Amino acid sequence: MKIACYDCGREFPVDSFPVRCGCGGLLTVHQTFHSVDAEKLKATFHERLQERGTSYASGVWRYKELICPDLPDSFIVTKYEGNTGLYAAQAARDYAGLRQVWLKAQSENPSGSFKDNGMTVAVSFGRFTGSTSFACSSTGNTSSSLAMYAAVAGCRSVVLVPEHDVSISKVLQTAAYGAEIIRFPGTYDDGIRFLEKRGAELGLYVCNSVNPFRIEGQKSIAFELAQDLSWSLPDWIVVPGGALSNVSALGKALRELKELGFIDKLPQVAVIQAEGASPFHRMVNSGLPELAPEPTPRTIASALNIGNPPSWRKALQVLQETQGITASVSDAEIMAAKAVIDRSGIGCEPASAAALAGLRKLVLAGTIHKEETAACILTGNMLKDTDALKGYLSSSTVQKERRIEA
Ligand SMILES: *Cc1c(COP(=O)(O)O)cnc(C)c1O
Repeated sequence: MKIACYDCGREFPVDSFPVRCGCGGLLTVHQTFHSVDAEKLKATFHERLQERGTSYASGVWRYKELICPDLPDSFIVTKYEGNTGLYAAQAARDYAGLRQVWLKAQSENPSGSFKDNGMTVAVSFGRFTGSTSFACSSTGNTSSSLAMYAAVAGCRSVVLVPEHDVSISKVLQTAAYGAEIIRFPGTYDDGIRFLEKRGAELGLYVCNSVNPFRIEGQKSIAFELAQDLSWSLPDWIVVPGGALSNVSALGKALRELKELGFIDKLPQVAVIQAEGASPFHRMVNSGLPELAPEPTPRTIASALNIGNPPSWRKALQVLQETQGITASVSDAEIMAAKAVIDRSGIGCEPASAAALAGLRKLVLAGTIHKEETAACILTGNMLKDTDALKGYLSSSTVQKERRIEA
């Protein structure tokens, strides 16, 4: 394994790397997959589905050979994350107008979002390098996840959470796990800038998605999806895009699965942004070579409220390699798709519903064909944002609820 700058290629020691390279680039992990035999590993991954109570019972660490092969097992901090449901939901299929739609419910993770897939690896690796204080900037899900794993490891967590436009449910969850919460005026982007500058000198191990081990862990979402579907992926995988770490990890996972012979064909990737926070979609759509940050991001999907996504270069490579596309959806489209997912019994927070809303839009536009198949990654749990629920339920459904007289 090597850690190198994604932009200039400079290498860093595995046990002490900076948040970013001096050139401003993000770091990335280069795995050396010596003696990986895809068929043998498939059998191993299948056998591990029977594990209980060991780190291999986790839906992330099941794939340790492809994620963090050299980490001694004793450093693993796990809550048996992953192992989430894959649903062939009829309602989602009808809504998107597609032959087959799967919902991969990362919302079923222990802290309620896909951030757990990456965080278990970042915190485990941080412990391996001797860190005991962990930090992140967050719109609420990264902080909940970090606070949970730090608590499990008996370590300290410090989280920067914007004062505005963050779901109170997430802040309370983060606080309840015992994190030190710093609220600040500004956005996620300001928080991450602060940590990039000051994190190391404050002795904090930064667990935002600029940490390359978050990306390695998040690859497991694609691994699990592929394993669930007997190593044959749908035509499209659709993800909501905020900081763009999820799509970066998805793309890296697909690339590695293909190179190692686990899958024959790369699916196409679609990234869906919220209209009020869609700098990546705007860049791709207009063919501009550089991302122009959105100074005042604003969307009801608070997890997507990010104007300057750090991982945009990695995400762009994923689009290029998979003939991927982007779209943006309005808050109204997001909430309409969310209502469909909620009523199907699966449920999700607004940001997750952007994927289904975007899929429907792309099918209506003819960009994705009715005969193709797709999987939407549901990134966060329904109870992560009860305000959003109140917003659409209070006016209609809840009033229709009948009182039962005792
Ligand atoms: C973090 C998050 C996203 C965005 O993922 P990125 O990797 O930042 O693009 C989407 N939905 C939810 C629920 C999230 O927590």
